[in-house]
Amino acid sequence: MEEKPHFDGRKFFNPGKDLNKNIWQLLKWQLFNKKTPWPKWRENKIRVKLPKKIHKDEFYTTYINHATHLIQFNKQNLITDPVFSERVSPVTWAGPKRHRPPALAISQLPPIHIALISHNHYDHMDKTTIFMLAQKFETTFIVPLGNKKLLESFGAKKIIELDWWQETKVGDLSITLTEVQHWSARTLMDRNKSLWGGFIIRSPTHQIFFSGDTGYGPFFSKIKTHFGPMDLSILPIGAYEPRWFMKEQHMNPDEAVKAHFALSSKTSLATHFGTFQLTNEGIDEPIEALKKACKERFVAEKDFIIPDIGETHRFQKTNPEHEFKDF
Ligand code: ZN
Ligand code: ZN
Repeated sequence: MEEKPHFDGRKFFNPGKDLNKNIWQLLKWQLFNKKTPWPKWRENKIRVKLPKKIHKDEFYTTYINHATHLIQFNKQNLITDPVFSERVSPVTWAGPKRHRPPALAISQLPPIHIALISHNHYDHMDKTTIFMLAQKFETTFIVPLGNKKLLESFGAKKIIELDWWQETKVGDLSITLTEVQHWSARTLMDRNKSLWGGFIIRSPTHQIFFSGDTGYGPFFSKIKTHFGPMDLSILPIGAYEPRWFMKEQHMNPDEAVKAHFALSSKTSLATHFGTFQLTNEGIDEPIEALKKACKERFVAEKDFIIPDIGETHRFQKTNPEHEFKDF
């Protein structure tokens, strides 16, 4: 593959940013920065009620867990970074374990036509989940460059690989991969050999952005300039402490609010918190910090939603000027 602004012929990279941490920095984090313990288990409070009928000018989101959101349109259902396993780790006996159950089991899901997978980290690309979705629904998986082979080995049959700013169509949805600031690795040997990214999802009436994992950067404004304002942005608010180690790869809630503005999001939806403990902050700290950041930056609670697991939200077109005429 030839060189690109984010590929040197061998590995992908973040233009203008070096996210590489050495083994000493990793050790310093593990030895000197204390984790706030999470409660071992939390039951879900909400019983999921999925919509029975979805009109052309609306869509529904249901928070499943971690970065997994079910997004239901008039004709198709889509899922983001689906993870239903007990652990997000290369092995079943160790690694981050869930503290809450998913809102629904895979067997309770409606047909999943499309799965968007933002990058290859274990908490976003889960082998068992991919196998089961492919078996049950013949789902089309949309992934950044360099992930196709791995997904095939998991049992996925329909796979579309995209480069940054490349677009594909599935039914009446158009999906574009965008730049975000992150990295990839599943083993000690494959760092940044596959790409990472966010997704723009365009239905005939709506435009949604799902960022996957990312630090804060100028690309949010670039996305807004390219695509125009978002009806909904799904933005991560968890896995950010300690800042000296995490800042470049994961936004904190205050930066998520800055991203909400940079994207001109009508509404944003918080994600990537409360299911797996990956970093040092407590289980509810992202929620408290997001509420504070919204207050400080004059964002109403209804404009940056913090979903509970199992919660469904309806989004309806109210502003016809954002409609896309080319569908
Ligand atoms: Zn990640
Ligand atoms: Zn993650």
